[in-house]
Formats: sequence, structure tokens, C-alpha cells
Amino acid sequence: MADRIGFGVDVHAFAEGRRFILGGVDIPHSRGLAGHSDADVLAHAVADAILSAARLGDIGRLFPDTDPSFKDADSLVLLAKAVEEVRKAGFAVVDVDCTVACQAPKLSPHRDQMRSNLAKALGIPVENVGVKATTTERLGFEGREEGVSAYAVCLLDRRKTA
Ligand code: MG
Repeated sequence: MADRIGFGVDVHAFAEGRRFILGGVDIPHSRGLAGHSDADVLAHAVADAILSAARLGDIGRLFPDTDPSFKDADSLVLLAKAVEEVRKAGFAVVDVDCTVACQAPKLSPHRDQMRSNLAKALGIPVENVGVKATTTERLGFEGREEGVSAYAVCLLDRRKTA
């Protein structure tokens, strides 16, 4: 039985001259996402979901963008650090499900690699990580290809102490 749920949302804008990193996958595209770290909007949403479920705040509190050591940081490494904080707070990540809203490029060819990368960072089986993508039918900032949003939910178990 899981003890906590968490919900995380993140948005990053597209920018020229950046790599497009999503769920740790370097996706070929004309632009990437702007941000202090590698701007992996999916990894950030997942990190916020698990931190929130453990009532540890959010990724901005843990890894402030004023800290130069997080410049261009690999967000999967940040996610693994968030998992470590969650574990220290007495919880284990059980299951994560995510949706990315992105008009272009098509993300489905990269979905399994994103699941695998996230599962590895989370320390859970790949079966326990869901990733899906949707367009927004050209509506809103995602639809105008100005940026990408990501949503994640998670379940945490309170760890059994010996
Ligand atoms: Mg972010």
C-alpha cells in the first residue's frame, strides 16, 4: 500500500542554440529548452512530484538556479539526488506516471529510452514508470511551439524500518 501521492508540473521555453533534453534523451530538433540546468522539463516535473509527496518542497529549493554548480546540470543526476532526499525522509518511490505536452518534434520514438532513463534515476523497475506525450492541437504555448510542459504523478511508500 502506498502512503503518499505527489504531483509535479514544469514548463520550459524553447530557445535557439540549446540541446533538447527530455527524460535524459538528447532529442534531435532545431531548438532546445532554455534553463539554468539542461532544462529537462520531464525530469524536473518528476523530481517535483516525488519531493512534494515527501513534503520536501520542490526542485528549486533543493537545487537553486542561483547556484553556479547546477549550471547545465544533468537533470537525471538532480533527480537521483532528489530520490536520495526522499529516501532520507523515510520514503521509497513506488510508481511514477508522466505526460509531456509538446507540439513538435514527435516524442513517441524516444518514449522507451525516457522511461528507462527515469527508472534508473529513480531506482525503480521500468514497468513502474509511465511516459506519454500529447500535442495540444496547436493551442496554447505548447501548440505554438514556444515551449514544452510536463506533468508527473507519483506514489511513495513509507519505508519499513527494522
Ligand atoms: Mg524546470
